[in-house]
Order: sequence, then structure tokens, then C-alpha cells
Amino acid sequence: MKPPRFLYSAPQTLDEALALLEVYGSDTKILAGGQSLLPLLNMRLAGPSYLLDINAVRSLEYIEARDEYLALGAMTRQRQIERSLLVQQRYPLLVEAVQHIGHMQIRNRGTIGGSIAHADPAAELPALLLCLNGEVVVRSKAGERIIKAEAFFTGYLSTVLEPHELLTEVRLPWLAPQSGWAFLEFARRSGDYALAGAAAVLTPSGDDRCASAQISYLGIAGAPVRASAVEDILIDTRLNTLDAAATTSAQLVSDDLADVHATPAYRRALTAELTKRVLHMAWQRRNQKEQVGV
Ligand SMILES: Cc1cc2nc3c(=O)[nH]c(=O)nc-3n(C[C@H](O)[C@H](O)[C@H](O)COP(=O)(O)OP(=O)(O)OC[C@H]3O[C@@H](n4cnc5c(N)ncnc54)[C@H](O)[C@@H]3O)c2cc1C
Repeated sequence: MKPPRFLYSAPQTLDEALALLEVYGSDTKILAGGQSLLPLLNMRLAGPSYLLDINAVRSLEYIEARDEYLALGAMTRQRQIERSLLVQQRYPLLVEAVQHIGHMQIRNRGTIGGSIAHADPAAELPALLLCLNGEVVVRSKAGERIIKAEAFFTGYLSTVLEPHELLTEVRLPWLAPQSGWAFLEFARRSGDYALAGAAAVLTPSGDDRCASAQISYLGIAGAPVRASAVEDILIDTRLNTLDAAATTSAQLVSDDLADVHATPAYRRALTAELTKRVLHMAWQRRNQKEQVGV
């Protein structure tokens, strides 16, 4: 199928893009990597009258280490993230998650900003942003907003982005050096969207108990899920509460998720198992030396 007719612009600068968004805003779709938008257009599930292609806005393509966080321009391709030495060395959890996105050809085009703005509940990057207490920077002609992940996702493919706003930057706070981390998911075939997945960051205290836990899930509800109920079970333990954490995680699976791929009961069992494994893996990777000073 072919998409419906639309007007098209490909601005070269962010200012130009924001000016065009201001004019055409409410009936516009922003074209980033096109890996989600083009199928939607071709299947006529979306029919904007205006397409704003931001692929020529090169100032939105960067990966930078800043004092408090890793900054990624919205147009940074998923494959650039995966191949970045900086990310490999200083944010390996991000590489571990990104490698699960589709296939290499999709990651060559797909962008971090597009994935987060698209807010697919089964996507890796929105769930990871939540787990990491990340933030996004959004810009419009009126100015800039910095939005925390927990306030960004509002439901199925929905965010607080306004029609005149463009997501420009993703910020991921650095992990504490002693933290352990892991990302795991299960898909029926390599490259498929996951049936369920989990991201975890665990930080040990000086006496090697779990001082802080950050856990999120993809594919288990209508939006990515931050699991504070699971996190609470782990705090101040030596991770001897994995069974209770797994049981609690299964309760987060939405009953509305019955589809051709899996029943809610299957997803609950999968989520419980993923929880045990992702927490175990994150705990194994913690750095006890940082804590006890040996
Ligand atoms: C076969 C296949 C398998 C896939 N498997 C996976 C998978 O396993 N996991 C996964 O996460 N994804 C998967 N994807 C989707 C892929 O990751 C996309 O790259 C991602 O969902 C969207 O990024 P994009 O840059 O292509 O955005 P686009 O498709 O260009 O845009 C997506 C949406 O976000 C909006 N948007 C884009 N950029 C911005 C911005 N800067 N500001 C505001 N709004 C913006 C667009 O208007 C559109 O509504 C798959 C895609 C395909 C075709």
C-alpha cells in the first residue's frame, strides 16, 4: 500500500524545523528513522497532512558525556549508540538493551528520539529510560521543557509531547560505579518485539545489601512500567527475596494483553522468570570493591 498524500519539508536546522512545526503543528508527523512511522503511513493507520523530515538536522545527532549524564541527540541512530566506544565503555547497559531492537538494518535508521517519542510499550528504549530515571529535552518555538521519564509516557503510544514540540535530547544519568545492571527480554524470534522484557539497576550498600533498586518492564502493559512495588521488596536485602519480587512482578502484567503471541498467564510466568534472572544478573555484576574499599 502507499501512504495518503502529504506535504513534505526537510529543514536543515533545528530553528527551521521548530518554525515549521509552529505553523503546521497539529496535523504534522515528524519523520525520524521512519521505522515505525512509514509502516503506519503505508498501512494508512496514520494520515498526517504534513510530514516534517528531520534527517537533515545534523545538530541532533551526537553522543556526549556530560558531568551528570550521558546526552544523546534525538537523531542519533540506534546502531551509532551500539557502536559508540563511549557508550560501550561508560553505559554498557544501553548497548545491551539496544542490541535487542529489531535487526541491524532497522537500527541503522531507527533513532533514539523516534523510539522514545513513539512510546511503544514493547520497545526497549522507553522502558530503559524509565529504569534509569532518564529525562528528555523537548523544544518548540516557545522554549524548552525538560521532562522526567516517569512524567513522559501517558499510555499506549502516547506521551506528553505537544503537537508543536520536538524531542531534541535524551539524558541518562550515570550509574553509581558500584551498581550492577542487566537487560533481558524474550521474543519468539530474534529481532521480533519482545513478549516481555526487564531492565534492572541494583546498587549495593557498604555492607553489601541492596541500597537502591531500579526496575522497569516492557511488553507487559499498555505503557512501559516502572516497578516500584518490586523495588521495595529488594531494598535492604541481600537479594534473598527474589521469589517475592518475581511474584509481585507477575501481578504487574495487564489482563488486556491477550494476543496471538501469548496469553496473560504466559506473560505473567515469563515476567516472573525474567525478573529473577535480570535481578540475579544485575547483582552478580555489582562492584563490591567500590563499597568495601578492597
Ligand atoms: C521489522 C521491525 C522490527 C522492529 N523491532 C523493534 C523492536 O524490537 N524494538 C523496538 O523498540 N523497535 C522496533 N522497531 C521500531 C524501530 O525501533 C524504530 O526505530 C522506532 O520505533 C522509531 O524510531 P524512528 O527513528 O524510526 O522513528 P519514526 O518511525 O520516524 O517515528 C516514530 C514516531 O515518533 C515521532 N517522532 C520521531 N522523532 C521525533 C522527535 N525527535 N520528536 C518528536 N516526535 C518524534 C514520529 O512523528 C512518529 O510518530 C522495529 C521496526 C521494524 C520495521
